[in-house]
Order: sequence, then C-alpha cells, then structure tokens
Amino acid sequence: MGKLDDTTALVTGGSRGIGRGIAEGFAAEGARAAINYRSSEDAAREVAESIEDDGGEAIAVEADVSDPEAVEGMVAKCEDEFGRIDVLVNNAGLLTQSPLVEMDLDQWRDTIDTDLTGTFLVTRNVVPGMLDSGSGKVINVTSQLGIKGAEEMTHYSAAKGGVISFTRALAREVGPEVQVNAIAPGPIETDMLDDITEEWRENKEAELPLERLGAVEDVVPTAVLLASDGGDYYTGQTLSPDGGDAMH
Ligand code: NAP
Repeated sequence: MGKLDDTTALVTGGSRGIGRGIAEGFAAEGARAAINYRSSEDAAREVAESIEDDGGEAIAVEADVSDPEAVEGMVAKCEDEFGRIDVLVNNAGLLTQSPLVEMDLDQWRDTIDTDLTGTFLVTRNVVPGMLDSGSGKVINVTSQLGIKGAEEMTHYSAAKGGVISFTRALAREVGPEVQVNAIAPGPIETDMLDDITEEWRENKEAELPLERLGAVEDVVPTAVLLASDGGDYYTGQTLSPDGGDAMH
C-alpha cells in the first residue's frame, strides 16, 4: 500500500528537476499525477510515460503559471481528468542573477510573476475545489534564499520570502480543511545550478554543515511527508532539506 493511494496531485514545473522528482515520488506512493510544464513538452510527456510504464497514472499539462487564463485551463483540465486535486505542489520557478543596480523591471517581474504570482494563481484556482471537498494539501517550493537572502538575487529572494509569508497566511485562512506548507531546499543539483562555477561549488560545500550540495532525492521525502497522512498536523510550516544552510 502506498502513502498516497487514491490521491491526485498537480505538480507545477514537473518536467524537470525537483518537480519531476516529486511527481515521480508521489506516483511511486500511489498518487495520480498531473505534470505541468511551460515549454518542455517532450520532457513532461516522458515523465508521464515513465510513471505509466511503472503502473501509475499521469498526464502532462501545459501552462505558464504566470498566465491567469492558462492556469485556469490547466486546473480545469486536471479536475476533469481526475475529478479533484488532493495535493497541489507549487514548484515552478526560475532563477536569474543580477546586481540590483543593473536589474531592470522586466527581469524583476519575470521572477516575481513566475515564483510568487504563479503560486498565487495556481493556488487560487485549486483551493476552492479542496474547500468544497473538505480536504487538501498545498505544498509551496520556496528556497533557503527566501529566508537568508542572497546577493544579486533580490528578485528571487523577495519572491521566495513572499511564498513563505503566503504559506503562513493561507494556512491560517483555509484550515482546518486544507493544510498549507512550504519546502525551502538548499542548493540542489538540477538544471538551475548549471551555471555555477567550480569555485562556488567548493566554497558552498565547505560552508555547509553536511559538506555537499543536495540531490533531488534529498527533497522528495519531505514532499511525500507533507502530502501524506503523516503530514496531517503540519500547517504554515517551512521545512528545509538544505544541508544546514539556513537553520531558521
Ligand atoms: P529546474 O530544473 O530549472 O526546473 C524548473 C521547472 O519549472 C521546469 O519544469 C520548468 O518548466 C518550470 N517552469 C519555469 N517557469 C515556469 C512557468 N512560468 N510556468 C510553468 N512552469 C515553469 O529547477 P529546479 O531546480 O527543479 O527548481 C524547482 C523549484 O525549486 C523552483 O521553484 C526553485 O526556485 C526551487 N529551488 C531550487 C533550488 C536548486 O538549487 N535547484 C534550491 C531551492 C529552491 P519547463 O521545463 O517547461 O521550462
């Protein structure tokens, strides 16, 4: 028996990296999974197919999470397909870097629109169904940088810090029916870290109490916990698989 038998989950940004790992981890525990992507259609279909090959059920659903109409269509499609959405993982995100004095409004907006407004838009469309059915779980993937901040990432740190506050506020608003929590990973080996230098990696590894960057597999169990019955008494929390980076 899986921890998520008879549940359905929508994972935004499920085509790659942490989102892919969470979608596959949920499916391995028995959940039916909707894999959202923005542009990586082939990758998202491959995730869905690999879940089906393993005996699970999954669909790939396109939507830019910062586009209100696309989000509405995506959520309607998932609800049509699955009947309801029990677990929402707001994972889609993007990371760019720039000193504040060189950052233009478009760069600021791209990050805020995807990481923060995207979380609002998808949640706004999914939570009414959860409240109607009397239960649901929202899991927001934020970052340890939303807690401690990072230079040349004021936009990303602000968006991720906003997601943590959004999590706390919504948890107070939609309990006891819906639990809302966040995961704040440390540096995790995905495409998002493609551009790091060897020097940055060595410095980071030396700084972290656990002396290594994380893998997607270091994050997935936290998502499974929060999505399953074992997570029923968590709400408004931010759990941090981060190798000891933030220690908030
Ligand atoms: P990734 O490998 O770059 O994957 C990003 C995912 O987000 C992709 O599936 C991408 O879809 C999707 N996405 C981006 N913009 C989107 C949009 N507007 N609408 C829909 N989907 C969108 O990144 P990752 O490392 O797995 O990161 C996942 C989450 O963890 C992000 O929220 C990130 O901020 C957070 N995080 C990552 C780290 C890290 O070190 N990796 C640390 C802390 C927090 P496409 O494939 O279609 O482009």
